[in-house]
This record gives sequence, structure tokens and C-alpha cells, in this order.
Amino acid sequence: MAVDLHTHSTASDGSETPSALVDKAVDLGLSAFALTDHDTLEGIEEARASADKAGIDLIPGTELSLEHEGGMHLVVLWLEPEPGPLQDRLAGLQFGRGGRNAAIVGLLEGLGMPLSLDEVIEESGSGSVGRPHIAAVMLRKGYVESIGEAFELWLGAGKPAYAPRPRLAPEEAIGLARDSGGVPVLAHPHTLGINRSHEMADLLVRLRSAGLVGLEALCAAYQRHEREGYADLARRFGLVVSGGSDYHGSYKPGLDMGTGYGDLAVPYDVVDQLRAGAA
Ligand code: AMP
Ligand code: FE
Ligand code: FE
Ligand code: ZN
Repeated sequence: MAVDLHTHSTASDGSETPSALVDKAVDLGLSAFALTDHDTLEGIEEARASADKAGIDLIPGTELSLEHEGGMHLVVLWLEPEPGPLQDRLAGLQFGRGGRNAAIVGLLEGLGMPLSLDEVIEESGSGSVGRPHIAAVMLRKGYVESIGEAFELWLGAGKPAYAPRPRLAPEEAIGLARDSGGVPVLAHPHTLGINRSHEMADLLVRLRSAGLVGLEALCAAYQRHEREGYADLARRFGLVVSGGSDYHGSYKPGLDMGTGYGDLAVPYDVVDQLRAGAA
């Protein structure tokens, strides 16, 4: 039995509705999946209603961007859409996205790629607005040839149209997640930009003592040896080996739910281990 513990819907920067993700999970034969939209739990109610009908286990969650030089993402699982220490911070984080998106639009204008914030908001539908939506508008206007190119040339960290947004400190976010009944997992660890093993070790020790439970070693982007390497690292530092596709529908072409680029498989056992790890 396979699961997928990292996916995005139209509630943030995925192209498919929460219900469509449930249908897809059923078609793929997954026994559980987590909806982890950026900074929001808005898709959970719809996903849960569909999941209950379909008889599949829906794990409510979100993905947060944290303060760290190279960027750090935290997937928080089993976070219920109800008032709570972390839940109450999500609206503020989404508000921070608004100012940031406006800043990016201003930078693009100065670089000769005019587009309006309204077009970006329209592209995003009703949810959390992010850079993939800006990239999609750039693609439509012919400024770039793919969403990937928009990030590589303009929108990625340190590129000419990059603007930062308010982020939580890692220890604070992990503490808030645990206080809210959530299970924090460090997402796609290669994006931390840490190459030295002692730096990674220091970071994992720090985050683990703050309450981190899992490390996303089973990531679609990795070769088999990389998954094994991160899994070893997780075990060495007392973290559960977690994983997911980071499915975004058409915003990440070629990447499927569950199987990633074709070779991803996250066993159901991970769900039990994560729950046990947080108990
Ligand atoms: P934001 O939430 O606005 O900071 O945007 C982050 C989103 O951009 C994440 O969901 C990533 O999946 C996506 N992203 C980051 N880098 C790339 C890239 N090179 N190609 C496509 N999507 C990317
Ligand atoms: Fe995303
Ligand atoms: Fe991420
Ligand atoms: Zn993601």
C-alpha cells in the first residue's frame, strides 16, 4: 500500500481541485494522501468530504517556507483546519505573500516584462497566490518558454525578479506545529543548499531538539542513491523517513501524484511511524 505525503491543489499553487486530487489518489490506488497547500488549510474541508465518500485516508496539512539562507520548507501533517497556535498564523503568512507578489510584479515591469497583479490573482483562482502563478502568466505572455525557465532566469532565489516574503523561524514553526497537534517534516532537503555533512548534522540536531519528526528522503526529484543517503541521515538523527511527490498538476509538468517521475513509492508504514514519532 502506497501513500503520498506532499501534494498541492488549487487552494495554493496546484492546478487541480482538492476533490480532483482525491479522485486521482483513488485511481492510483493510494491508501492515504496528505494535502499540503502553501500557508493554507482552505482545501481541507473539500478534500475531506470527497475522501470520506471515496473511503481513502486524507491527512490534513500545509507547507511552510522558513527562514534559512538557501530556503527551507516544512510540511506539517495532521494539522486540523480549526483555531490553533500555528493555524492562527497562516492568515498573516498569506497576507505577506500579497506584498511580495506586488514587489515581484514591479521588478518584472522594470525588466521589460509587464504583467498585472490582477492577472496573477486570476491565474491563481481562489487560493494562496505564489510564484508558479506569476510564472504561468509570464509563459502565457511569451516572456519565457516554460515555468521552469521563469524560475531559472527570473523568479528563483537570487534572480533579478526575486523578492523575499515574511517567513517563520525554523524552531518557532516546528514548536507551533507540535503545539497545534501537527507532525512537522523537513521537505525536499536538497533545497536547503547544504553540501557539508557537518552543517547538515548541526541543523538536524537543532531541528530535532525543536520537535522535528520526519525528513522527506523519498522525494520525486531524487535518484535512488540520494533517497538512500537522506534515509540514512534521517535514521542517524532519529527522524522518520517520510516522502511525497510534491505534486502541483500542470505547474510541474511530468511529475505525477504518488509515483513522482515514475519511480517513487512511499510505503504506508511511514504514516504509522510519523504518528508514533510525534506521540
Ligand atoms: P512561493 O510559494 O511563491 O515561494 O513559490 C514556491 C513554489 O514554487 C513551490 O511550490 C515550488 O514548487 C515552485 N518552484 C520553485 N522552484 C521551481 C522551479 N525551478 N520550477 C518550477 N517550480 C518551482
Ligand atoms: Fe508548491
Ligand atoms: Fe516545497
Ligand atoms: Zn511543495
